[in-house]
Amino acid sequence: MASPRTKPLLLNLTRSELTSWCADRGQAAYRADQIRRWIFGKRVSSIDDMHDVPSSLRRALMDDFDLFSSDVQAHQVSKDGTEKLLLILPDGSDVECVLMREEDRRTVCLSTQVGCAMGCIFCASGLLGVKRNLTTGEILEQILRLDRLLPIEERITNVVIMGMGEPLANLNALIPALLTLNEKGGLGLGARRITVSTVGLPDKMRELAKTEIPFNLAVSLHAPNDELRSRIVPVNRNIGIAAILEAAEEYFDKTGRRVTYEYVLLADVNDEIAQAKELVRLLKGRNAHVNLIPMNSVSTIALEAPGAPSTGRFLETLLAGGVNATVRKRKGADIDAACGQLRLQQQARPVNVELA
Ligand code: SAH
Repeated sequence: MASPRTKPLLLNLTRSELTSWCADRGQAAYRADQIRRWIFGKRVSSIDDMHDVPSSLRRALMDDFDLFSSDVQAHQVSKDGTEKLLLILPDGSDVECVLMREEDRRTVCLSTQVGCAMGCIFCASGLLGVKRNLTTGEILEQILRLDRLLPIEERITNVVIMGMGEPLANLNALIPALLTLNEKGGLGLGARRITVSTVGLPDKMRELAKTEIPFNLAVSLHAPNDELRSRIVPVNRNIGIAAILEAAEEYFDKTGRRVTYEYVLLADVNDEIAQAKELVRLLKGRNAHVNLIPMNSVSTIALEAPGAPSTGRFLETLLAGGVNATVRKRKGADIDAACGQLRLQQQARPVNVELA
């Protein structure tokens, strides 16, 4: 059931907007930082628990805002410690987010849209199209929910914007969220611990670079040429790899951050040695790193990851050709952690997708 809450989210306000809100009520500027410390540092569950905030100010905050708008509709825990939440928003939209544990790293994966319009043929998030953009507050709320799953002595150390949706198609909401993750009074994570993954929208990549904050940028390439990429990533028909590579170089020039290229390996589609060699020709000499991702299977999609030997050969070919590359470790395989899958399961509508 959708929750009846209707107030705006407190997390939709930037630090300076919250400061102005406090000033309008005759409150000192430091109150805004105090409130944000309760949210990000002390993990309160309600505005009323912010004990050193004057009760009149707490009441005013509660009159105007909600701290949380979502309800947890599903919570899965993997054998490897990965946890996944399906959150339901007041309008009935559902959103997935994931917490991954690895030695001293605690990485969260956040969604930026309800569904996705990009239509990549192997991805569960796009199967039902896009319903709407998430707000800044709704992006950040996922962090709050996941942060509160950790024991008190543990902190989120890394954020990847790789959940449902195309982050750069929702840049107006994303940038303030990234700034809050990065700010000292927010989550205080260094820019290099924050990664934005995009299907590759060149103009939006340039806009992100304009922040001049060196966030990691990962581009989902998945193919070494436009003919194949347009079959795997349909929006490529209107973009083209050359324009993406050019925007990536500009991103590097402006931020000093080398772009990562994600390449989901699909058996018999993009995993041949000849394709690895073509990828070498495309990326050699660029400031690039390739992240090979064996596809996570999706129940309704008739595509699969190649076996370990093919993956190994593809990796070796890239390395031998002088291109930096690694294979991404799988996390949460037993809980369908690939984005969009839990939501798909809950909607329980069978969909068939074929390679064009
Ligand atoms: N729209 C953005 C971010 C969301 S997808 C993008 O395209 O990058 C985040 C990453 O997960 C992308 O690299 C995407 O290609 C990958 N991905 C999606 N479905 C997957 C699946 N079934 N198996 C493996 N990786 C997947």
